[in-house]
Amino acid sequence: MTEKKVPFTKEEIEKIIEKYPTPFHIYDEKAILDNAKAFLDAFKWASGFKEYFAVKALPNPAVLKLLAGLGIGADCSSIAELYLAEMAGIRGEDIMFTSNDTPAHEFKKACEMGAVINLDDITHIEFLEKSLGHLPELLCFRYNPGPLKGGNDIIGKPQEAKYGLTRQQMIDAYKISKAKGVKRFAMHTMVASNELNPEYFAETAIILFQLAADIYKETGIEMEFINLGGGVGIPYKQEQDRIEWEDLSALIKKAYEDVFNQLGYNPKIYFELGRAITGPYGYLVTKAIHEKHIYKEYIGLDACMANLMRPALYGAYHHITVMGKENAPCDYMYDISGSLCENNDKFAVDRKLPKIEIGDIIVIHDTGAHGHAMGFNYNGKLRSSELLLKQDGSVEMIRRAETLEDLFATLKF
Ligand SMILES: *Cc1c(COP(=O)(O)O)cnc(C)c1O
Repeated sequence: MTEKKVPFTKEEIEKIIEKYPTPFHIYDEKAILDNAKAFLDAFKWASGFKEYFAVKALPNPAVLKLLAGLGIGADCSSIAELYLAEMAGIRGEDIMFTSNDTPAHEFKKACEMGAVINLDDITHIEFLEKSLGHLPELLCFRYNPGPLKGGNDIIGKPQEAKYGLTRQQMIDAYKISKAKGVKRFAMHTMVASNELNPEYFAETAIILFQLAADIYKETGIEMEFINLGGGVGIPYKQEQDRIEWEDLSALIKKAYEDVFNQLGYNPKIYFELGRAITGPYGYLVTKAIHEKHIYKEYIGLDACMANLMRPALYGAYHHITVMGKENAPCDYMYDISGSLCENNDKFAVDRKLPKIEIGDIIVIHDTGAHGHAMGFNYNGKLRSSELLLKQDGSVEMIRRAETLEDLFATLKF
């Protein structure tokens, strides 16, 4: 069970709305920091442990900078994300560059920044060498465990996934890059998305640790770090439980000790979580602007799927709070819709809620990751502002809302 609460009262959010009109995403600074600290604390046993926040989950430098204050780096998959990390003051090997199908100029930028380069394919060794004129001192490779791993709902089966190298390619890739003068080596995988079963991560860790051990035995090559990727889920639904950091840590510790205690070398452990770091601590704040009674009961919001894509894209559940009616009985059933000309532009379908009046403030939960970030401009919809609810209760706008001028800025007419 996960209690779904909002970090402000109705009066407080009304005050905020006076200054910043709906819709907007608001992020709870204290909750993000407390959660990130608890995560890092749980892995204190792992010397050199590091988290690289997946920038794509919440690509706002204000948030990256907050996390960087705890020693958290940035996991980037595009040149824009590299620039965002740079803006936040994140430098050198505090950046991982994990993209695939990457153009040469993006590799160049990542290398200029001194980022850790994580290659997605064995052919990319040569591509990288050609792009840069040399290879970096440190190379990481992304493993695709194929049939060893069952896969999960969002990310699918590893065998069907475009990412990473096969086992034999991994072994060859380390040998080839060593022969080409690479000095430091690392391993990565990312085979989960929004996964709530901690055993799944232990299983992945065992597969990676074992592969690292096999490579060590066969080639003598030591991994400097093993990056277990992202994909830790969050309880979008009240009846779900979060993964406790201590539980995840204990499982990984056991897997680590099983493999590396006998081997006598100790690679560092990295993660690149996005969702589980910020997801639960963001809220899309909207207002009910229409109601309609046809074959079903509809409430129309001043936000749409351009502000939060997950329900339309994956049929994802996002909890909804009607401000001021937190304890009212949920004896109405609504489809909560947006304004896009797409019938799946619904934040909720057949949702039991208290009676909603026009003008009610409707808060959509768990938008702190893959929320605003997945926004788009189809149908001429504008992306909203982003606010940071600071620890002292003040509010800072960390991104303004898009305007029509922004939307038309690229036209040549
Ligand atoms: C998306 C992504 C992540 C983060 O995923 P979450 O589900 O937000 O934890 C980490 N690494 C890579 C390579 C990704 O593509």
